[in-house]
Amino acid sequence: MSIRPILIHPDPRLKKVADPVSDISDELQRLAEDMLETMYDAPGIGLAAPQLGLSHRLIVMDCAKDEGARPNPYAMFNPEVVWESDDRNIHEEGCLSIPETYAEVTRPAEVIVRWIDPSGDAKEDRFTGLWATCVQHEIDHLEGKLFIDYLKPLKRQLITRKMQKLKRERTRIA
Ligand SMILES: [Zn+2]
Repeated sequence: MSIRPILIHPDPRLKKVADPVSDISDELQRLAEDMLETMYDAPGIGLAAPQLGLSHRLIVMDCAKDEGARPNPYAMFNPEVVWESDDRNIHEEGCLSIPETYAEVTRPAEVIVRWIDPSGDAKEDRFTGLWATCVQHEIDHLEGKLFIDYLKPLKRQLITRKMQKLKRERTRIA
């Protein structure tokens, strides 16, 4: 397993609609493992393949982050929301591609998601609370959508400018 670099917004690769996975090759299984390792290392609770510049419909997540909680990793190929509640939930969201930036986003409080697991089995599960927010945030990445796209244009522009500055600084140091 290895830790891979995460793209920082703005980047055209974060705005692309990702391609469906038709065959879960050994390479894609390794990618899912690398993504989990990269996510835990960051640390984060979710990561989508486009954040590594790869146009695959693959996300990983683990929201069991309370101290002493046992890891509960998910790797989902071709995930899709098949049902969402009318109830909404407001959560403060962040993103590994938009470091140190948080904002409240309103989303369905509960969702049912269908996906293919790394061994090729079809799965379906209901997610609530932080898990529901996280899985919707990650699936958005597969559509080229970021959580700041839910914010007002002015707020979004401010964040984008902050990230451009951050990227310039990082390039200077590197
Ligand atoms: Zn994100």
